This record gives sequence, C-alpha cells and structure tokens, in this order.
Amino acid sequence: MLAMKRISHTHENTLSDFLSSKGWFEKKCISCGNRLFTKKRLGQSQENCERSKCSNNGNTFLKLSRRSRMLTIPMINDQIESFFKKNHFSRKDPMPMVNPNSKTDVIMAGVQILDGVIHGNDDVDNGRIFISQPSMRMQYQSLVKEFEGTSTSFVNICTEHMDATIENHLAYIDLWLTALSLLGLHMNDFKLVMRMSNKDWGTGAISSLELFFVYCDIELGDAAFAFIPHRDNKNLVISDIGFGLERIAWAVNKTPSYFDQIRPLSQTLPREYLDTCRSLSLLALTGIQAKNKGPGFQFRRFAKVLAIKYPSSCHAGVLEYYFSYWSQFIEPLVSLPAAMFAVNSEIGRLRNSRLADSFKESALENESTEDYLLRLFLARNATIDEIEVALKHERANT
Ligand SMILES: [Zn+2]
Repeated sequence: MLAMKRISHTHENTLSDFLSSKGWFEKKCISCGNRLFTKKRLGQSQENCERSKCSNNGNTFLKLSRRSRMLTIPMINDQIESFFKKNHFSRKDPMPMVNPNSKTDVIMAGVQILDGVIHGNDDVDNGRIFISQPSMRMQYQSLVKEFEGTSTSFVNICTEHMDATIENHLAYIDLWLTALSLLGLHMNDFKLVMRMSNKDWGTGAISSLELFFVYCDIELGDAAFAFIPHRDNKNLVISDIGFGLERIAWAVNKTPSYFDQIRPLSQTLPREYLDTCRSLSLLALTGIQAKNKGPGFQFRRFAKVLAIKYPSSCHAGVLEYYFSYWSQFIEPLVSLPAAMFAVNSEIGRLRNSRLADSFKESALENESTEDYLLRLFLARNATIDEIEVALKHERANT
C-alpha cells in the first residue's frame, strides 16, 4: 500500500516563513479565507485576494504605471528564457499539441512534459527545465466573450523540476519574482495567495501546496509543490511553476483589451472570433483534422463556431496570422496550405450541410461551398435569387 505523502502545515509554514524573510506581510482573504501575502505592511489584516472567484474583474491593474515602451510577446518570452538559462535551467522544446504519453486530448500545460515519467516508464530526471508550451483549455471557451483576459489557447511559460526539495521550490519562486520585476512589474502591486490542495485526476491523489501570483487584480500564474503517486510505491515530488505568457504581456503593456496583445493590429474583430481562429490554427499546425472524438473533436468544435456564427467571413488572413504566431513557439507539423485545407474542408462541410436544407440537394464529399453553389447554379439552374435566399437563411440561423 502506497504511503501517500501529503503536503502538511510544515510545508505551509516553510513557505510563509520564506516569504516573510523576503519582506512579505501575511494577511487573509476576506472572501475565500486563503492566506495571502503583500509587500504592504500597513492596511487591514484582511483584504480581497482578487483571484478570479473573489475578484470583481475590474482590471484595476490597467491604471498602474506602465512602461514607456511596449514589449512584444516574443520579446518577453526571450527575456524570461535567458533569465532562467542564466540560472541553470535548460530549455526544452515544447511538445506537439497531442502527446501519446498524456491522458488529455490536447496539451493543457507545460508540466505535461513530465507525463512520460508520471504515467509512463521514463526515468526520473531531476534536471531543471524551462519550457514555453502552447496549451489549450476548452473550459475557457464559454468565458472568452464575457471576460477580458481569457483565451482558450495560450503559451504556458514554466519551470519544472522533478525530485525537487521545498528549498529548491522556494528558490525558484524567488527567481520568478525577480523575472517579473525585471519586466517592470513592481512587487508592491502583487498579492501572493497560498492554498493547500488535494486533487485526483483519475491517477491517484495529488497533494500540493499552491501559491498564486496576482498582479493587482489579474492572476498571472501559480507555483505548485506537489506530491504525485508514482510507481514502486513512491511519490514523485515536483516543483511546477507556470504563467500565462500572454497575460504577463497584458500586465506589462496594459493595453485596454487583453486581445490587443494577441490580435492582428490591423483587424478589429470580436474576441470570440479571434479566439476561435487562434485555437483552430494551433490545432491545425499540429496536423489535427476534424473527427468525432479526441483532439479532432476539439478541432470540429472550433470550426463549427466559424461555420455557424461567422459563415460569410473570410478567415484566411486571420488564420494565417495565428499560424505564424504559434510557429514562433512550436514547430508546425504540416505546411500552412495543408493546415488551411483541413480548416476550410471542415467549415465547407458544415456550411454545405446547412445550405442543403434550402436546396434539397447535398454537396459532394470535400466539395467547397463555392463549388457546391456553382454546381447548383450551373447544373440545376438555381437562380442567384435562390442562392441569396439560402445564404440569408443560413445567416439568420447563426
Ligand atoms: Zn480570495
């Protein structure tokens, strides 16, 4: 029987002692009750931690002082990467979005680089890893329209260390705080929120001590020191510290919208539309195609948003923009034309099946919507008026 090692109050106290030695003062969140730390000695002993559930999503951080010059996302990534390289972390290439060692359909976080050890038979390697991992979280899809600062895909910029000690972990937290300071984010504007957590994602209970990094009222990332059940009745102890790179960029540059960081500047389009094209590009450059399950099902869900809600838009320019964006972080497994073909085929298939209701004739397999309408026009003597009515009907049902 595995003697499950759990995070204890000793670990919590070690972390809080460390933070107080660095000039952080302990308070308590008035809403969730979690312990929080700020650099401000004065003020009330209870305040709001401003994590998502406690926050009123006011984005007050936008009013803080800003840099005189913007930094692009790749600039910020390079700066953080060189900082960790100097501090003896070795950079790993990101995983493709589908990883055979992982239990999720698509990669959700950089820590999954350890999946071969956690779930497979890979040996424990206690090197210090730095990784900028494109990641996707479908649970954010419904939030994008409503909440600023959310996107279904992002770069999870992380440090990972297997077989870490709590002392290692504390040293890495300190490094991250320095890396954020060097980008111009002042420590006086941060709240660090501590929480113990015991989760089970179907592979045994994971016990972890978490510290969330909240910049004024936007959460940028978190540091977890975790015990994970492992083979031979042992626990794997990991330090996993990860941030949303694009969120850091928003905090640094303080543009009115988060999407100002991640959209083509020449285009003003709805957040949902941009987010859908962005995530679809990430899946497509990995060679994923529409399917009824697995990663292909996520592809289908995004393509459906474009086909149904934005049928008459031309997506090519925006998809190409995001294809180049992701290519800065992850090696595409297919060419841009192949990725575009996969996206357009699925959008065409979905649009054709909806238009077929008006014409009582189905499209052929892999027939583009343009070819389908032309065939109806030429071979069936459909009139331009009939086609207009069908397109109007399609738009009305968005
Ligand atoms: Zn709270």
